[in-house]
Amino acid sequence: MVIAMANTGTVYLVGAGPGDPGLITLKGLKCLQQSDVVIYDRLINPQLLKHAKPGAEIIYAGKSVGYHTMTQEEINFLLISKAREGKKVCRLKGGDPFVFGRGGEEAEALVKEGLHYEVVPGITSAIAAPAYAGIPVTQRGLTSSFAVITGHEDPTKEEGQLDWAALAKMGTLVCLMGAENLPNIVNKLIEHGRSPSTPAALVQWGTWPKQRVVDGTLSDIVQRAREAKLGPPAVTIIGEVAALRDKLHWFDNKPLFGKRVLVTRSREQASRLSELLAELGAEPLETPAIRIEEPEDYGPLDEAVGDIRSYQWIVFASVNGVNGFFRRLHAQGKDARALASTKICAVGPATATALKEQGIIVDLLPKEYLTSAVVAKLGEQGISGARVLLPRTDIVGEDMAGGLEALGATVDQVVAYRTVASKELPDDLVEDLHKGRIDIITFASSSTVRNLVSLLNGDISLLSKTKIASIGPITSKMAGELGLHVDIEAQEHTISGLVDAIVEALKL
Ligand code: SAH
Repeated sequence: MVIAMANTGTVYLVGAGPGDPGLITLKGLKCLQQSDVVIYDRLINPQLLKHAKPGAEIIYAGKSVGYHTMTQEEINFLLISKAREGKKVCRLKGGDPFVFGRGGEEAEALVKEGLHYEVVPGITSAIAAPAYAGIPVTQRGLTSSFAVITGHEDPTKEEGQLDWAALAKMGTLVCLMGAENLPNIVNKLIEHGRSPSTPAALVQWGTWPKQRVVDGTLSDIVQRAREAKLGPPAVTIIGEVAALRDKLHWFDNKPLFGKRVLVTRSREQASRLSELLAELGAEPLETPAIRIEEPEDYGPLDEAVGDIRSYQWIVFASVNGVNGFFRRLHAQGKDARALASTKICAVGPATATALKEQGIIVDLLPKEYLTSAVVAKLGEQGISGARVLLPRTDIVGEDMAGGLEALGATVDQVVAYRTVASKELPDDLVEDLHKGRIDIITFASSSTVRNLVSLLNGDISLLSKTKIASIGPITSKMAGELGLHVDIEAQEHTISGLVDAIVEALKL
């Protein structure tokens, strides 16, 4: 018997689904959020990586630094070594990890080393890509079976394991990988008696906003796919069900399907706008907002940490504040026990969770996060005469310190982290703008116009190939002043009004 050492970690083989980030399971998402290391494959939607916890190590297993693909042995070795370090590892794989994903081999490698692992199944592209093309893999009265095969096996070779005579009789055949073998696959099926008039379809980038579908019959699908220049990743569906797409397609006829829309962020989050756009089939791309950095001077924080027993309360307003504070506490060789006589207040459940990870159960977690509500709750605890520490960011927010001092507390505010506005656009976004690969830029406030122009260092010529949509006259005025031409203006000056205006404009 192999006994795993108590301090070894766990590897979760997680199915990320076929691309649409909403198609990961709740359990998969939880693994992703809680893991120390995330190792992801080529077909993973990068948007999913946003859910990794701050500070998690994120490793791309598709290609390594030298641009050669990481071999399966290298990936196995990576999984094993991270687990041995005691880490919780999320091995994020496209679709379902055990459907042509080599997940089984990774599991075997872990078992061989006596390491703990779990599988979180995912939605396979074999079913989801057809579904997003309007093709059910089974349909009462049409098919009562479906098979999923790999197209990697060259059907003209003798040693193949596929039973073509049996496959030709299968209700629905779904073929993953190896689009280059499609002509041979089609020939084999016809040779074994499948009618050349059998409906067939190819779905490339299924469930992504860039999904493309070609349909036809067994006799012409190869030609049609070639004409449309449809390459990988794609699944091929062969069977009567493929014809149902005509009636049932729903994804690629959404009003904003396939449109790439730049959502310009100000300090307030842009997620509502991105969400609405994605629901209508668009691909929202977000400009960077802010990033978190260490303080320029750790002096005041270090001093407070050194004298931590003199404080009766610490109020943590953010996860970053917790991380910054504990980094310095550990740097002084101390841990949570140094806070044994100090009461802790957290603003927001995420902050309380971050504290829990440091071994702290908070004394106070106000239900409302408004500064005034937090001050009132602390007031009920009788903080008059108490010394209170506020580890916070460098940007002065609402005046919590003033509120607490008014209640008779002595408050020390120390900078535990900095909030820095991003200074430039990422290179790929600049290139997309340059090549006209972004259809629409949205501005939901005049500050977002100013932010984008400053992110471009004033070079607004990059925006000339893209339509500009504004939430209303004030925002449009700012755009005009900065030399931009507004093409679409919302009539109702809300986020959904902005989206409505874009939909209307694209109908013309
Ligand atoms: N485990 C994955 C399959 C990995 S093999 C799953 O369950 O989906 C990789 C192949 O999957 C690709 O060559 C392609 O055939 C298919 N594939 C993966 N994602 C796809 C997508 N979004 N659209 C179409 N095909 C996809």
